[in-house]
Amino acid sequence: MQHLWFESALLAEGWALDVRIELAGATIQSIETGVPAKRGDAKHGVALPGLCNVHSHGFQRGMAGLSERRGRPDDDFWSWREVMYRFLDRLTPEDVAAITAQAYVEMLETGFTRVGEFHYLHNDVDGGRYADPAETACAIVAAAEASGIGLTLLPVFYAHGDFGGAPAVPGQRRFLSDMDGFAKLVEASRAKLPADAILGIAPHSLRAVTPEELAAILPLADGPIHIHAAEQAREVEACVAWSGARPVEWLLENADVDRRWCLIHSTHLTDAECDRLAASGAVAGLCPVTEANLGDGIFPAIRYLE
Ligand SMILES: [Zn+2]
Repeated sequence: MQHLWFESALLAEGWALDVRIELAGATIQSIETGVPAKRGDAKHGVALPGLCNVHSHGFQRGMAGLSERRGRPDDDFWSWREVMYRFLDRLTPEDVAAITAQAYVEMLETGFTRVGEFHYLHNDVDGGRYADPAETACAIVAAAEASGIGLTLLPVFYAHGDFGGAPAVPGQRRFLSDMDGFAKLVEASRAKLPADAILGIAPHSLRAVTPEELAAILPLADGPIHIHAAEQAREVEACVAWSGARPVEWLLENADVDRRWCLIHSTHLTDAECDRLAASGAVAGLCPVTEANLGDGIFPAIRYLE
């Protein structure tokens, strides 16, 4: 048996002092509090339970640095996205597996023990289907298994380039599915998952999914539902022009948002949206590194928590 001893630890019942944890392999066997360390214990300061990283696009680890340099004065999310599309012109499933494994190892090193992989890179470099619809999902599974991180796979449905079912642009060809193809992709992905993995579903955003498609894809998996919402001011304006409502407002009114949901970013909220989102039980999936990197804005965290 291996023993760990901590000056303090956050346990299910709250913070505790002088905590001794007995391990059997990778499993916690017992926890004692208010006890001194014994000879041979590995002694540490503070212990926290493993954290979940709610939002990853693992392949993007490979483009770190490509857009983080001074460019045009009007560079923003949308010019970053152009860099991302060019990067995708050459990425193979083997590349995805290697890059994603590196990202997952780095997550483990910083305390994340499970990752929500918002997985939207489904097609080959020309936009064609792989023979196995779960080809790139297998790359994600391989990365999770190689690194040891827990996986919540969130296959992304992405069918359009903008609100109202606008056609996709060429840079989006690796993401696109139709309804029938996506159902097959979800089933093929389910068959490849390790036993401790969770399968959710991810309509990419209200830009990429029509209301009819949104309703149709949600029953394909019974895990969490993740969607990008209100990351960009321009996105909010376009959503209002399309529907008369802001993205989070639209979802709250039309999509039965509850604890199963995670609204990624949720940066641009009115006070009313913030209050209703908090009351819904949904998670606001903040990505502070991304939001700082792209200058997106700041989530009203204090109001949401209060
Ligand atoms: Zn994202």
